[in-house]
Amino acid sequence: MQRSNSSRREFLSVAASSASGLLIAPLRAAEPDSRLAGVLARTISVDLHSHVGIPFGKPNAALPQFDLPGEMKRTGFSAVVQTWEVDSVPPSATGQEYIHFHEALDFEDRLLAATKVKRALTLRDLEAAHARRQPVIIQAAEGAQFLEGHIERVDEAHKRGLRVLQPVHERDDRVKPMADIYTRAAHLGGLTEFGAEVVKASNRLGVVVDLTHMSYDAVKSALKISAHPMIFSHTSLVPGPGDKPGDPRMAPRLLSKEEVRDITAPGGVIGVWWHGTNTVKEYVEQIKRVADAAGVENVGIGTDTDLEPDVRRLYTNAIWKGETRGMFPAVAEEMLASGFTPDEVTKVGGGNFCRLFGKVAGAR
Ligand SMILES: [Zn+2]
Repeated sequence: MQRSNSSRREFLSVAASSASGLLIAPLRAAEPDSRLAGVLARTISVDLHSHVGIPFGKPNAALPQFDLPGEMKRTGFSAVVQTWEVDSVPPSATGQEYIHFHEALDFEDRLLAATKVKRALTLRDLEAAHARRQPVIIQAAEGAQFLEGHIERVDEAHKRGLRVLQPVHERDDRVKPMADIYTRAAHLGGLTEFGAEVVKASNRLGVVVDLTHMSYDAVKSALKISAHPMIFSHTSLVPGPGDKPGDPRMAPRLLSKEEVRDITAPGGVIGVWWHGTNTVKEYVEQIKRVADAAGVENVGIGTDTDLEPDVRRLYTNAIWKGETRGMFPAVAEEMLASGFTPDEVTKVGGGNFCRLFGKVAGAR
């Protein structure tokens, strides 16, 4: 990772002030980084994991009264991978997760129509939306329990605009589980045969596979059979020797350096989440740690937050107290200040994901 001259500039200004005996504020504070505007204008910035709440069981529920495109613009993201958890409602019978899947997509169709937000289906859609400064979503599902053993439902999801599929979440598929889950005792031997079929169907259709929540054995098997690079949309690195110890509850959700390298070797992208950070500066330190392990070409931003204010999950525009610049502008500014080059900020901000998305979902 190249270091920019910002810390050197700061040093020079401090040195100048002490030499002259005058109190001159560091240049960085007095003079906003002129490179920031260029980065923000150029970058197709993407949040790899952003939630929307689905009123499961209430197909005619009124739409939430929040300004989706306005909230997206506030975050500074050009696009968000918008997801929901099918398994947030325990199913009482087979068939119910499939109904929930339809409810979620129907709800999304209504929400997007009402707010005039489109789904990006290819890289060109992302580029066109960015050129028009019109935020778009990339449709995802966190948990593919709606498949219930029916591989053709991956085709159905793709036809309805789904472009990112995370096979597992908190609970197994009732009919044909796909993989062991990292927060539960392994009992499936990693990736199942059906799980492998789901990866292959996603490859064939142009759906990005999100490996988050899979046990590492399952991840290894998926890496062996996948024809395309995959993402791990919301995670971070396990604390190393000398790092401040993290929350032990988060431990199963984090990756070692070796695991990060395995996932990114074929071109995969790791989305860095905010957990364990109190400020954007600390978040950028997490990005730096992951980038040091994975290479700056293989890192992205994955908030795991919600664009709707006042919901159960953390609100994207209020991750850090007092931070008002918007998620991406704040991260971009802090990355530049901490030594990332503008080009590196563009890559982490969304360029790396766009490269993968063009390869998997298609350039046009
Ligand atoms: Zn998750």
